[in-house]
Amino acid sequence: MSTTDYRCDVLVIGSGAGGAPTAALLAEAGLDVIVAEEGPWVDQGSVVPFSLEQMDRQYRSGGVTVALGLPSVAYTEGRCAGGGTEVNSGLYRRPPQEVVERWRTNWRIDDLDPDAIDVLAREVESALSVQPLPGPAPAPSERLRLGAERLGWTHDESPRWMTYPTGDSRQGQRQSMTRTYLPRAMSAGARLMTDCRVDKLRLGADRVEGADVEFTNGRRATISCRAVIVCAGAIQTPALLQRSGIRRNIGRTLAVHPTVKLAARFTDELNVPDDVPVHQVKEFAPDLSFGGSASHPGLVALALLDQWEDFRDAVVAWREIAVYYAAITSQGRGRVMAVPGLRDPIVTYHLTRRDRALLCSGLTRLALLMLEAGATDVFPSYRGAPRVKSRRDLATIEDTFSATRASVMTVHLCSTVPMGEDSDRCGADSHGRVHGFANLYVNDASLLPDAPGVNPQGSVMAVALRNARHFLAEGWSRV
Ligand SMILES: Cc1cc2nc3c(=O)[nH]c(=O)nc-3n(C[C@H](O)[C@H](O)[C@H](O)COP(=O)(O)OP(=O)(O)OC[C@H]3O[C@@H](n4cnc5c(N)ncnc54)[C@H](O)[C@@H]3O)c2cc1C
Repeated sequence: MSTTDYRCDVLVIGSGAGGAPTAALLAEAGLDVIVAEEGPWVDQGSVVPFSLEQMDRQYRSGGVTVALGLPSVAYTEGRCAGGGTEVNSGLYRRPPQEVVERWRTNWRIDDLDPDAIDVLAREVESALSVQPLPGPAPAPSERLRLGAERLGWTHDESPRWMTYPTGDSRQGQRQSMTRTYLPRAMSAGARLMTDCRVDKLRLGADRVEGADVEFTNGRRATISCRAVIVCAGAIQTPALLQRSGIRRNIGRTLAVHPTVKLAARFTDELNVPDDVPVHQVKEFAPDLSFGGSASHPGLVALALLDQWEDFRDAVVAWREIAVYYAAITSQGRGRVMAVPGLRDPIVTYHLTRRDRALLCSGLTRLALLMLEAGATDVFPSYRGAPRVKSRRDLATIEDTFSATRASVMTVHLCSTVPMGEDSDRCGADSHGRVHGFANLYVNDASLLPDAPGVNPQGSVMAVALRNARHFLAEGWSRV
C-alpha cells in the first residue's frame, strides 16, 4: 500500500504559460498549492538563448520530437520550470477578438466575452512588461521589414515580454514565468517541485484524489489534494489524462501552425546568433504569416541540410545568412495517443491539400520578399530545392516544392482538450473542468479550441487567468 507523501488543496501540474499564472492566483487567494514540474529550474541568463545547450537542458527530448504524417511535422516543447515561456521567442500577440468570438460561437463556450479577454490580455501585458524594442531592431529583422515595405505588404514589429534595463535592445531580459508568475506563486506560499513528473492521476468514480509522481532521481511519491489542474501543455496534458484512463474527446484535435523555412544570404554579416527578428509580415494573415527564426550557425546548417549537396558551400558564410519562416493556419488536425509501456505519446498530424498548397505559396512569397530585401541567394528548406538568385527562379519553387520533401515544423501546439459545451467535441467545459469530473481541470494551451493564427502565449495566459478566477469564484467551493 502506498503512503501519502504530500498533501495540498490544489495540485497544479506544469509551470508554463498556463500553470504559473494559475498557481499564482490560487496561492494569492490563500489556497495551499503544489506545482509539480517535470523539468529542472534553469536560471534565465545561465544558458545562451536559442543554443544547442539550451535545447539539451530546457527542451523535451533535446528538441527532437515529431508528429508523424505525410509530411511529418517536427515540434518542440519546453521542459523546465516556466515551460515554453523560458525558451520561446517572446513575441507577444493579443488574442484577436474575432478569434475569441469564433471560439465562443463554434464551440459553445459560456461567458467567453472578447472584451473581457481583452482586459485580461492587458493584465498579462502589464505583468510581463510587454513592450517594443527601445532601439533599432536586429539586422535580420530589419531585412524582413525592408522587403515587406518594398513590396507594399503589411508588416509590424511584434512587442515582446522583455525588459531592457540598460536601454539597449540587445540586452533584453525575458520576462518568462521564472521571473514573473512563479516567484509570485512562491511568495504567496505555493510549493514548486521541479524534476517531478506526474505519471498518473489517482481517480475515483467522478473525482480525482491526487497523483503519482516520480522525481528525476528515481524517488516516487504520492500527492493527495482536493483538486487537480493539469497544465502540462497541449501534448503532455492529453497524454497524462489518457494514461490515467480519461479518453473522451481528449487528444483527438491537435491544432498547430505549421511552418516552412528558408535561409537567405546577404552581402553583409547580419547574423545575430542569440536572438530572433521581431518583425512579422501580415499581408496574407491569418492564412499566412512570415517572420524570422533563430539563426545560430547550427540552425543555419540545418536550414541548408535538405539540399546539402547544392547548398553546403554556403555554410561557411553563416555570418551573412539568416533563417526565416512562413507559417500557416492549418485546416488539418492531429492526434496525441498515450501508449502503454511508452513514456512519451505517439503524435500524428494531417495536413490538408489546402495546407500543403499554402505552404508552397508561402515559401515562394517569402523568397520573393528576401530578394526584395537584398538577398543574393535564397535557400529554401526542402529536398530538390533550387538556389534562388532572382525572380525568375521563383517559378522553380512552385514546380518542385512538395510538403512531403520539406522540413515542416511547429512550436505552436494547442487544442487537444478543447473547452466548451459541445459535448460531442469538447474534452472540458467552458471553464476547463474535465467532463465527468467534479474536481479535475485543464488550464493550458490544450483548451484553445483551434490555433489562434497568431503567437499563442498571450491567448493561453488570458484564458488561464479567466479560468483560474472562475475556479476561485465557483469551482473551489464545490470540490
Ligand atoms: C521554441 C518555442 C518558441 C515559441 N515562441 C513563441 C513566441 O514567440 N510567442 C508565443 O506567443 N508563443 C511562442 N511559443 C509557444 C508558447 O511557448 C506556448 O504556447 C506556451 O508556452 C504554452 O503554454 P502551456 O502552459 O500550454 O505549456 P508549456 O508552457 O509548455 O508548459 C507545460 C509545462 O508542463 C510540464 N510538464 C509536462 N508534462 C508534465 C508531467 N507529466 N508532470 C509534470 N510536469 C509536466 C513541462 O515540463 C512544461 O514546463 C513558442 C514555443 C516554443 C517551444
